[in-house]
Amino acid sequence: MEYYSLNKKSKNVSFEDAVIKGLAPDRGLYFPSEITPLNSSFFESIETMSNHDIAYHVIEQFVGNEIPKDDLKAIIKDVLNFDFPVVNVEDNIHALELYHGPTMAFKDVGARFMARCLAHFNKQKQNPVTVLVATSGDTGGAVASGFLGVKGVDVVILYPSGKVSDIQEKQLTTLGQNIKALEVNGTFDDCQDMVKEAFLDQDYKGVRALTSANSINIARWLPQMFYFFFTYKQLKKHNKSLVFSVPSGNYGNICAGIMAQKLGLPIQHFIAGTNKNNTVPNYLNTGEYVINKTVATISNAMDVSNPSNFIRIEALYNNNFELLKENLTGFSYTDEETIETLHELNQKGYIADPHGAIGYAALKAYLSKQNNTAQGVFLETAHPIKFLDVMPKDISKNIEMPQQIAVLMDRKKESLKINNYAGLKTFLLK
Ligand SMILES: *Cc1c(COP(=O)(O)O)cnc(C)c1O
Repeated sequence: MEYYSLNKKSKNVSFEDAVIKGLAPDRGLYFPSEITPLNSSFFESIETMSNHDIAYHVIEQFVGNEIPKDDLKAIIKDVLNFDFPVVNVEDNIHALELYHGPTMAFKDVGARFMARCLAHFNKQKQNPVTVLVATSGDTGGAVASGFLGVKGVDVVILYPSGKVSDIQEKQLTTLGQNIKALEVNGTFDDCQDMVKEAFLDQDYKGVRALTSANSINIARWLPQMFYFFFTYKQLKKHNKSLVFSVPSGNYGNICAGIMAQKLGLPIQHFIAGTNKNNTVPNYLNTGEYVINKTVATISNAMDVSNPSNFIRIEALYNNNFELLKENLTGFSYTDEETIETLHELNQKGYIADPHGAIGYAALKAYLSKQNNTAQGVFLETAHPIKFLDVMPKDISKNIEMPQQIAVLMDRKKESLKINNYAGLKTFLLK
């Protein structure tokens, strides 16, 4: 499979090169040159297939022959070693719980897949690659855990100081080994800009081979298609159309859902739920793409005002704004509204995290406005324990501490503080 740069000024590359490079030399995101829908027989028999087999069929065409079939199957088996339950919350509304992996956020899937692809491609090589990643909270932990101890790969994580939760910080600063955390005096967008600048900087040539593990990397982005298929497998028996509501920040997750739709998965509509960083919902409403300054919210993994993956979504809808609007609706919520929704869900017997709550609120807003009787699914993107500091006390007191979080709490944070790109560069050239 070939990948082209969405900026269209770089050469097409293989899956391997796209994974290793992350971003194209012209700063464009890589995008598959062809997308072939899956056979109708696949959808007819999906409920008889294992998640591993479904995932293999979904990703196969995007990897091509660059990873041998058995190796790819082994990678998938290793990546997907946890469940993806679809939990009924009320009539026609389900939570797709994506937090049953090691760091309890959906990013485990992409991070684990990418780590294993990179390790596969690096087996024959002498020099380690350095994975450079900016995180607004959950990416860092998922990448740290996904790459921990992976041979031939060093990981450098940039995170905005004071803007991630205590548990998130523990997850990315306490592992050691091949994982290093840099604490940036700034916002997530600052971190992301620094990472982008590093990729363009020629001074690392011969010193370090850099790659990214943000959702701009195709090996993190594409496996996120899997759980949209797993959901269909579980809900198909109801014979109703599906609407997915995705709490969105960098728009990688929802973009993977739209890819799944391109592959033939019958999805009626997508909803992007955001916090006050609402560039995309505003765009969908007004037609104007205005990037405001990022504001800090209680759903911090979505504190992004210039979402990297939106350009891929536009590509999937042929850069046709009308088509985009028909398929995608956006809603934005304040922190107060998010807290209210957490209470509302709690009264229904479901404890969500702030991101999932936004997904739920957006789903309800859409379905009621349309008088729509579809089955709604909101993505519960992280376990609420990860956001204890901002959860209402009367709800959080009932959350049990999962084992994989409990073990972190006594570990010691290790990070290096930096203020700007020069700080990052000094570290990388050391
Ligand atoms: C990363 C993250 C999001 C946003 O996902 P995108 O793919 O960046 O849109 C939402 N919720 C949680 C909990 C996250 O960690």
